[in-house]
Amino acid sequence: MACKKTCKQYIAINSDSTHVRYAIGQKRCGTCEIFLIWDHDNYCPCCGHKLRIKPKNARLKRQYNKILKQKQ
Ligand SMILES: [Zn+2]
Ligand SMILES: [Zn+2]
Repeated sequence: MACKKTCKQYIAINSDSTHVRYAIGQKRCGTCEIFLIWDHDNYCPCCGHKLRIKPKNARLKRQYNKILKQKQ
């Protein structure tokens, strides 16, 4: 399974920092190497791989959690 370019129609275009993108609900596909706006499930509609829904990096994860807390 690889990128079939169908992800282009779900691509999330903005210039926010990575942790902000996750915090506003964008999901990252490591195979297609893009952020997607895809609420249906946590699998890439293009390549079928599991999407990342929060940052992997510890520092970004802290900032991400901070934003989520502020939202409540
Ligand atoms: Zn793709
Ligand atoms: Zn993908």
